[in-house]
Parts: sequence; structure tokens; C-alpha cells
Amino acid sequence: MPDYDYYDFPPFRPPNEAQSALIRITRGCPWNRCTFCTMYKHLTFEQKPLDELKQDVLLARKIYGKTTTIFLGDSDNLVHKDLPEIVAFIRKTFPEVQRITSYARAKTILRNKMDFLVATRRSGLDRLHLGLESGDSVILERLCKGATPRQMAIGGQKAKKAGFEISFYLLSGAGGKDRWKEHAAESARVLNLARPDFIRLRALTIQHGTPLDDKLRHGEFELTPPRERLKEVEMFLENLDLENCYLASDHLTNYLWAGQNIIYRGVAGSLPEDKPAMLEEVRRAITAIQTSPFPVKDSNQLYREGILSGL
Ligand code: SF4
Repeated sequence: MPDYDYYDFPPFRPPNEAQSALIRITRGCPWNRCTFCTMYKHLTFEQKPLDELKQDVLLARKIYGKTTTIFLGDSDNLVHKDLPEIVAFIRKTFPEVQRITSYARAKTILRNKMDFLVATRRSGLDRLHLGLESGDSVILERLCKGATPRQMAIGGQKAKKAGFEISFYLLSGAGGKDRWKEHAAESARVLNLARPDFIRLRALTIQHGTPLDDKLRHGEFELTPPRERLKEVEMFLENLDLENCYLASDHLTNYLWAGQNIIYRGVAGSLPEDKPAMLEEVRRAITAIQTSPFPVKDSNQLYREGILSGL
């Protein structure tokens, strides 16, 4: 029986990688400054040495056995110079695997040489999950994301050119009450330029202890109300001009509640063909908010009431 106590499980993975084997290439986040993020705050960033990584891969094989999907943690593995070699070793150790994915940062993609990206892709890393959060420059600065909209778009394009599938996260509500329109329009503009294979929506849920929580408590940031958050999704969808892209809302934070009822669970579908149905769903939910006899709550209210946790 493999000793799970010694295995270095990554603390986070995308929701759609719930069934994947998890292998940790780096620990923490080399940026670690985003004002809404709590993920790796307590960790000093480390790149794991190649020998240790190979031992982990062999232990992962004992723990997970045959698997078809693997996710690599933590937040920005493209900083690791041995990544092509370790991905090739993973492919050799898991010959059945069909998909290997990793988190990455657009800025790191831009810093990497094309040769390195292509070598990493050819070694068998298929998909990169990138946090766009917003395409609006003011919002990206507020979030301290460390990249401009242009760098996000060009980073995405460069990764696509190297052969990767790209999945961008968008932080619904990131503009707050004052910039939801800019957030919607500029995010669509950047994604239209980056041409990702996937877009994943998750709603901003401000967690205790973050710099954004301080701003919220001092009145320097106002949350996007539920109705405006859906108007933002509507405007974002209207402005998207993408083909061969799947949009998912695969996170609980997208939900809206009225009393005991969930009145909105997010939208999902292929672009462009499912756009009309997604718009219809958003508009239905906007009407449901306007006619609800109960106050409508989002993930922020439920988090503050202690009902949602572990975000
Ligand atoms: S959102 Fe991503 S890049 Fe920003 S601090 Fe968190 S893990 Fe790092």
C-alpha cells in the first residue's frame, strides 16, 4: 500500500480536474500578490528538484494507478526549466494518459522562449489554465494581477502558437459596482484576441484577510449586485466573437439564491452555437431576480453568513 502521508498533493486544482491524478511540480505562486487570492499566501515559492519530482511521479503511479488525465500543480509551472523532461517522464510512467494540464501565468508564457514552450508541448503537456480575471486594465491593476490586458492576449496567443489548448478563467463581478460594464466589454475584447479553447467563469467571492476584503470594509470597493452581475454576463456574451470555444461556469460561486431556491447556476455551452440559449438563460435569471419575493443572495453573502466555505 503506497504511503499517502509522504505524497506531496497540490492543494488546488481546477474543478474539471476533480478525477485527475495530481502531481506537484512547484509549490506556491511566484507572484502571490493578487488582492483577491488566498490560495498560496502561506507558502514560499519553490521549484521542486528533478530527482524529487521523478520520485513523486513513481509514487503517483502507485497511488493513482492507470489514469487518463493528470493535473500539474501549483500555480505557474512554466517557470520550471526541467518541465519538458518531467512531463516526458510522466508520459512514460503513465502510458495510458490522454491529457496533462497545468496552471500557468500569461506573463511567464511571454517570458519563456518559444523553443521552451514548444518543447514542453511536444513532451506531452496539453493544456494551460490561465487566470485572466478581467480584460479591463483598471480592474487588473486593482486586482494587482501583474499583467496588462495586452500581455494577457499576447500570452494566450503565444501559448496557442506553441500548440497548447488554452483555458482562461474570468472573475465574474471583478469590476465591482462601478466597472461591471468595462469588465464585460474589455474581457470579451481580450478573449476575442486570445482565442481560447475554454473560458471558465467563477464569481468574485471576497474572502476574509485579503487586501480586497480590507477595501470592501473601508468602502473603497463595492460588490457588483446580483442583477448587475448577470447584466455583466449578458454583455460579455453579447460581445464574445469566438468559434470552437467552450464556456463553462463550473464553480458554485456562480450560483444565485432566492430563499431556499437556486435561481441561477451559471451558463455553459459551445460558442458560437449555444450563445442564444446562454443569453436566454441569463435573461430568465434577470427576470427571476426582479420578480423574486425573497432577497437574492450571491456567494459573497453566503460566505459571510458562514454557509459557503472552502472557496
Ligand atoms: S490568482 Fe494566481 S497568480 Fe494571483 S496570487 Fe493567486 S495563484 Fe498567484
